[in-house]
Amino acid sequence: RFNAKEIPGAPIDPLYGLVAAYEADKSDKKVDLGVGAYRDENAKPWILPVVQKATEIYNNAKKDHEYLPIAGLPEFNSAAQRLVLGADSVAISEKRVCSFQTISGTGAVYLGGLLVSQFTAQPRPYVYISSPSWPIHDQIFATVGLPVRHYPYFRSDTKTFDLEGMMQSLSSAPKGSIVVLHACAHNPTGVDPTKDEWKKIAAIMKTNDLFPFFDCAYQGFASGYLSEDNFAVRYFVDQGFQLVIAQSFAKNLGLYGQRVGGFHFVAEPGANSQSTTTNVASQLSLLQRSEISSPPIFGAQIASIVLNDPKLFTEWETDLLTMSGRIKKMRKCLKQELDRLQTPGTWDHIVNQIGMFSFTGLNCAQVMVLRERWHVYMAETGRISVAGLNEHNVAYFASAVDDVVR
Ligand code: PMP
Repeated sequence: RFNAKEIPGAPIDPLYGLVAAYEADKSDKKVDLGVGAYRDENAKPWILPVVQKATEIYNNAKKDHEYLPIAGLPEFNSAAQRLVLGADSVAISEKRVCSFQTISGTGAVYLGGLLVSQFTAQPRPYVYISSPSWPIHDQIFATVGLPVRHYPYFRSDTKTFDLEGMMQSLSSAPKGSIVVLHACAHNPTGVDPTKDEWKKIAAIMKTNDLFPFFDCAYQGFASGYLSEDNFAVRYFVDQGFQLVIAQSFAKNLGLYGQRVGGFHFVAEPGANSQSTTTNVASQLSLLQRSEISSPPIFGAQIASIVLNDPKLFTEWETDLLTMSGRIKKMRKCLKQELDRLQTPGTWDHIVNQIGMFSFTGLNCAQVMVLRERWHVYMAETGRISVAGLNEHNVAYFASAVDDVVR
């Protein structure tokens, strides 16, 4: 029987807790390096100019507010599919891809988790998640009843990608296990495998019959270029894997709160690939119907306008370079400041890491001192969102770091 009195309290989400603590801090020196959202040079949210244009186009068209189909806006889905797989993808032309509009990347990971858990027998396959990873991966797969294991990803001594650790873990994973792979700009470490390393990962996954579950939340943020950043996904598709992709437009279009995402299933090539895809799509429809009925309309329309208009698409690419360029510049500034202060330790990783985050190597105790003494808010893991730095606060942050590591 359901008895609410037996329900224990759950801890508050650490990152949302951090946001609340930052907002409650009255100091004018405070710095927010917690939230994984782009900030401009004045630490303010940035509406992408191309999104502003698309919004005007949308408003002028005076569209209605009818329900979208269960799978979402068709022209958004097809464009999202082309974006992540490549417009020339053989999987698309062979009609072995199906795509659903989801509640951003989180909803896409959830839908994929639900699909796997519904269509696998007990004992269910393990889901291998990088250690560390976006903490919600563990949470989502546990919620849908899939057992979670972790594979090494990051070497804290060298602050680089741990290829050997990952390969060893994947070589001993039971056949049929699911492996969550960050398509690019790994959260929280900011280190990605090189192209050659991706090839090695694909080979071991093929040999061991492991299922790739891509999480693509930062396309365009790693290199600054959309097509460069989907190398891993395209390579795995070319190798003939059946796989899924959870895609988010939160960061690369700055549509965080509009919740725009996509879930894509790609069947392996072969005689039955089209019927497999049709069957999977029909089951995803059922799952989506009972979860959200149909996805929200506004953000998908905006994304679709940008994705489907060649001129706006080019403007989007420029906006992406504005964001990734500013983040890269801040990495350099922070490193220069730390060098100038002769802060103990090596800080090359700040400039070598990519994407929105840097895994600084600061420990939990140091993070707490930064918060209490310096009003600097960052995740307990030592992750900073580099986008929170700007020319007004980077020197201040560097002196705060210098203080806590001495
Ligand atoms: N995956 C990863 C790795 C992420 O970092 C995030 C955002 N923090 C997401 C998925 C999902 O984000 P959203 O639901 O806002 O698209």
